[in-house]
Amino acid sequence: MRAFEAIQQFFDIAAEHLEIDERLREALLMPHREVQVQVTIERDDGQLANYVGFRVQHDHYRGPMKGGLRYHPEVDLDEVRALASLMTWKTAVVNLPYGGAKGGIGVDPSELSQREVERLTRAFVDQIHDIVGPDTDIPAPDMGTDHRVMAWFRNQWEKYHGFNPSVITGKPVEEYGAKGREEATGRGVGSLTFKLSKRLGLEPPRTNIAIQGFGNVGTHAAKYLYESEFPIVAVSDITGTYYHPDGLDIAAILHHKIEHPQGLLEGYTECEHLPIDALMYLDDVQVLIPAALGGVITSDNVDQIKAQVIVEAANGPIYPIADKILAERGVTVLPDILANAGGVTVSYFEWVQNRQHYRWPLDRVRQELDHTMTQAFEEVWQMAQQANVSLRTAAYIIGINRVRRAAKLAGFAT
Ligand code: NAD
Repeated sequence: MRAFEAIQQFFDIAAEHLEIDERLREALLMPHREVQVQVTIERDDGQLANYVGFRVQHDHYRGPMKGGLRYHPEVDLDEVRALASLMTWKTAVVNLPYGGAKGGIGVDPSELSQREVERLTRAFVDQIHDIVGPDTDIPAPDMGTDHRVMAWFRNQWEKYHGFNPSVITGKPVEEYGAKGREEATGRGVGSLTFKLSKRLGLEPPRTNIAIQGFGNVGTHAAKYLYESEFPIVAVSDITGTYYHPDGLDIAAILHHKIEHPQGLLEGYTECEHLPIDALMYLDDVQVLIPAALGGVITSDNVDQIKAQVIVEAANGPIYPIADKILAERGVTVLPDILANAGGVTVSYFEWVQNRQHYRWPLDRVRQELDHTMTQAFEEVWQMAQQANVSLRTAAYIIGINRVRRAAKLAGFAT
C-alpha cells in the first residue's frame, strides 16, 4: 500500500462521520502545491551526483505551512505527499496556527561526508528558496536531517532574502534554536503514553513498555517513561532488539549509545540480544511504541502483536487494515497526528521566539508543551467517547473540522 493511500483511508473514515461531500473531501485532501527539483552536487572526489528533492505544501488555510525535511533513500513524491497531509491534520489537532507541508531528498546521508550533506542542502535551498519563508512554509528536521542541516538551510536562504531565522525551526540553540526542541517529540510521546496508560488503568510499575527505534524520538520517550517508573523491557535499533524481562537500565543503555561511534546499541551486553523484529511480538509487553519507520504493522504481522496499547511515535506505522483488526481486538492506538505532535509544537514555540527576538527558558518550553499536548489529548479523548469512535478517528474529526472551518471562513468551503 502506498503511504498517501493509507492516510486517505483514515481521512475518509472521519470525513464519513462529518458527512463531508465528495468534492470538499477531494479539495481538503489534495495538496495545494507539489514541487520536484533536481539537486546536483560535486562529491568530494570531484564527481557529479544527482538527486531528486521534493517539497509538498498540503494546506494553508490555518496559517503558514509547516513540516520537516527528510533525507532518506526511500523518499519519493508519494511519501512526501502523505507526510505533508499528516502535518495538516497534526497541526490542526494540537491547534497550532499552521497548515501542513513536508519535503525531502531521495538520498542516503550516511553515504555522504558532512561537507557533501552541506552542499546538498545549499543546492536544495537554491532550488526552493522562493517557495519557503517565515510566512509561507517553514521547514524543520525529520529523519536524516538535524540542527546542522537547519543551520545550513537558514544560512543559504538568508543569502537570497536577508536575516530571518524564523524561516526554519530545529536550529542549533545558539543559532536561534529553541531550548527543548530536540527532546520535544519524545517528551510529548512519553507524557501522552503516561496519561493514556493511567486512564486505561495501566499503572507504571506493572506496565511493561517496548520501544522500536532508539533515535531522537525513541531515546527521549524512553528517558521520560523510565523516569516515570515504567519498566522499559525492550528497545531496538537497526542492530537488533535489546530485552530484559525486569526492565532495561535506560541510563546505562543511553550511555552506551553516546559512547558508540554511530550511536548504535550493538555491543550492549547487560540484556538479551534478540532479532530486530522480536520487539514487536513480546508476550510481556503491554505498551508498544513504534518510533522508527512507517508501515511496520500490517495485515501480515498484526496477529502476532500482544500489546494492549500502541502509541504511534513514528509517522504512519500502522496500515489501515491492521488498524481495523487492532480496534476489533480492543487494542487502544494513540495516533501519530496526536502522539508525535510535540516536535511541531516546540517548533512553533521556536518560530514565535524568533519573531519576537526573545528566548524562553527550558522550563517554560516544557510547561507550554505539556499544556498544549494535554489539551489536545483531552479533546481527542472526549471526541472519541462522544462519537463512539477510535482515538485516531476522533483526532481526524477534530483536525478536519478545524481545517474545514478555516477554509469556510476564508470563503472557500461551504
Ligand atoms: P532517527 O533517525 O533519530 O531514529 C530512528 C531510529 O530507528 C534509529 O535508532 C534507527 O536505528 C532505528 N531503526 C531504523 N530502522 C529500524 C528497524 N527496522 N527496526 C528497529 N529500529 C530501526 O529518527 P527520529 O527523528 O527518532 O524519528 C523516528 C520516527 O519519528 C520517524 O517516523 C519520524 O518521522 C517520526 N517523527 C520524528 C519527529 C522528530 O522530531 N524527530 C517528529 C515527529 C515524528
